Amino acid sequence: MLDKILIANRGEIALRILRACRELGVRTVAVHSSADRELKHVRLADESVCIGPPPSSESYLNIPAIISAAEVTDAVAIHPGYGFLAENAGFVERVESSGFVFIGPRAETIQLMGDKVSAIRAMQDAGIPCVPGSNGPLGDDAEANLRLAAEIGYPVIIKAAAGGGGRGMRVVHSEASLLHAIAVTRAEARTAFGSVTVYMEKFLERPRHIEIQVLADQYGNAIHLGERDCSMQRRHQKVAEESPAPGITAEQRHAIGQRCAQACREIGYCGAGTFEFLYQDGDFFFIEMNTRIQVEHPVTEMVTGIDLVKEQILIATGERLRYRQEDVCIRGHAIECRINAEDARTFIPSPGRVTQYHAPGGPGVRVDSHIYNGYVVPPFYDSMIGKIITWGEDRTSAIGRMRTALSEIVVDGIETNVLLQQDIMQDTAFQQGGTNIHYLQKKLGLA
Ligand code: ADP
Repeated sequence: MLDKILIANRGEIALRILRACRELGVRTVAVHSSADRELKHVRLADESVCIGPPPSSESYLNIPAIISAAEVTDAVAIHPGYGFLAENAGFVERVESSGFVFIGPRAETIQLMGDKVSAIRAMQDAGIPCVPGSNGPLGDDAEANLRLAAEIGYPVIIKAAAGGGGRGMRVVHSEASLLHAIAVTRAEARTAFGSVTVYMEKFLERPRHIEIQVLADQYGNAIHLGERDCSMQRRHQKVAEESPAPGITAEQRHAIGQRCAQACREIGYCGAGTFEFLYQDGDFFFIEMNTRIQVEHPVTEMVTGIDLVKEQILIATGERLRYRQEDVCIRGHAIECRINAEDARTFIPSPGRVTQYHAPGGPGVRVDSHIYNGYVVPPFYDSMIGKIITWGEDRTSAIGRMRTALSEIVVDGIETNVLLQQDIMQDTAFQQGGTNIHYLQKKLGLA
């Protein structure tokens, strides 16, 4: 077993990782910025190291500082969580060349999947269905690009190969705006991601976002853990998620899940990962793979009973997968609502002191959050302050429990999006299930 793990992250996911380590009897090192001394996991960790000032670029993204922290504390492995350095192949190389274990896939895999163009190619080779598109980077030939878009059929979407977090995408509805959109997306991609590579895809008009969770070990064993529906989005960012996806049959789950597990074997994938798809009219179209644990992983844990973070650690230790595909069974239904420190109507971030906090509870209710009475939400990072996850025997019961949980939670002193989440849980179309990725934007009058 890995003796001591450094957690290269903050907030709820750092706490989640710390809990998995404790259960496994692994010692922990928390690294934090000077604004995060009071984080819950920093207080709970066996050791903690301040790695820099508040801006992420000088702390949570500061590779030399993180490596030094691992060296001085004699950590043997580093868990990156999500965001920050989780999908940075250069970081993985540094971690490994410094003699530490990276809890995640190999650097080459991260590189392959980090570039969406190379990821799509690899997936096509592995027999995964992809969105009709350029199947490669767009060149500078205006005529060729116009021809391609006409062949694919408008609307199309121009996406940055290195994009992420819902940024670096532009929808084009007609020929007149295509060339301008390509130029602007390229320019944005250069500034935001340091790469000018863009590609084109058919813009699907009413898809759902459905993703498949996988686990793979270092010995070529790979399984899938069913799907999550993450269609409730605002500005291409997930707001609430659930598993299983309404209306997806066991046969569909098995068919797409097996393909993903097979793709893992073909690319030599190792660790936890997610294949993201758009789903429309019964067909799945691959859009990208995330080579890390995801924010919404708890809904899968609730319906499968498998602790994904613990499995990540065991896989990195060199253990064989403890589950075969036939051991994975989906039971009941789980929903997750992300709780953000932001105004429920304007979405303006609302950092500050939490003067009073009461977490919800009861059967089937899980709260993954690092906040507590008196905690100050710093203005420097993502506004998510936690997640409520509910489980029920069926979807109706999971929704019912979520409504109860949302009515119980108290977060005073700052604004939160609890009202928005309550609104979603009361929504008739959501209750029916199967709403598409544009639904929330339309409901909010934003699209
Ligand atoms: P990111 O890495 O920024 O999350 P993705 O490629 O995963 O980017 O896309 C994020 C979201 O953007 C999707 O969940 C979906 O809402 C929307 N999107 C991406 N590609 C398409 C497409 N071809 N058609 C329609 N919507 C799309």
